[in-house]
Amino acid sequence: MNACDLALPCITQLQPYQPGKPIEELERELGISNIIKLASNENPLGPSANVLAALSTASKEIHLYPDGNGFALKTALAEKYGLLREQITLGNGSNDVLELVARAFVASNDEVIFSQYAFAVYPLVTQAIGAKSVIAAAKDYGHDLDAMSSLITDKTKLIFIANPNNPTGTSLNSDSLLTFLEQVSNNIIVVLDEAYLEYGEQDVNTLEWLDLYPNLVITRTFSKAYGLAGLRVGYSLSAPDVADLLNRIRQPFNVNSVALTAAMVALQDEAYIQETKLCNDKGMAQLEAGFKALGLEYIPSRGNFITVDVAMNGEVCFQSLLKQGVIVRSVANYGLPHHIRVSIGLETENKRFLEALAVTLGQHND
Ligand SMILES: *Cc1c(COP(=O)(O)O)cnc(C)c1O
Repeated sequence: MNACDLALPCITQLQPYQPGKPIEELERELGISNIIKLASNENPLGPSANVLAALSTASKEIHLYPDGNGFALKTALAEKYGLLREQITLGNGSNDVLELVARAFVASNDEVIFSQYAFAVYPLVTQAIGAKSVIAAAKDYGHDLDAMSSLITDKTKLIFIANPNNPTGTSLNSDSLLTFLEQVSNNIIVVLDEAYLEYGEQDVNTLEWLDLYPNLVITRTFSKAYGLAGLRVGYSLSAPDVADLLNRIRQPFNVNSVALTAAMVALQDEAYIQETKLCNDKGMAQLEAGFKALGLEYIPSRGNFITVDVAMNGEVCFQSLLKQGVIVRSVANYGLPHHIRVSIGLETENKRFLEALAVTLGQHND
């Protein structure tokens, strides 16, 4: 008797999430230093000075349990967005909240709809509960909302939409999203994942839709523009009764005390967000120009990353860049075998990546 035989089939068949390669691991493997990581859409500016200062105070209280209701952070978020505290669910990263939604609303054999090339966590949380992933073909690498609504059946319980999407960077305009929300029946939960919201200009405030659509759950994170990926804080905004359900099934202390303090401070740190955006806009322009110079086609992105067609095997390209000390992402696992995804870095990092990419392309075009 193998212990694994006791596990649920939906669990034994699960393909684990592939995180970006850590710098330390690559240093060990290749014995090189001066490695740059542009693989996980982290903020290249590093943590904000205000957050670091607050952390030294917060660290003096780590012998205490955190506030399990995250009262101070929820109050700050509610004030910032003009919502009620009762509409907020905090998570250990927004991935935590994505999983809570699936667990609260989807049973095994129910159906969950998301797009081809959508964020890898959607199939993961779907499969982990034994539900069925229903994948809508993408249009121009982005979500095709008509294709998604045509796949709705009476087994559909949940629809995931990433706007902008990772790894393609594509975004949807608010009119098409509103039309979609109007069409979808109230008894299907729609998650609008806005992890990269801060990088683009929003033409509407999507939070206003929460009053219109009781089945809408908007997720956001402190991992990207706010620069707190390592601390793990994200949240959802929804109707209060949906938030109440999500809060019942989360772990009582799912967000730690240091993370709660850091998120509070980060939320007020407008200057850091402005600097982050500026750095991202400049870096995006730098990479786009670099790709054009190399004759490569890229998918225009609204995030802090860009996915480019390297006109060669993407996995081979990824490996070749690794050997030059530049960590990016292969997106072959997303069904994009000739693309790589690169996070926008500091100017010097972007430059090094482009130079390494030129070397890689030169070697493979000989
Ligand atoms: C990075 C990312 C998240 C956020 O993950 P956290 O768990 O909050 O770190 C959520 N959705 C998408 C599409 C992402 O790319």
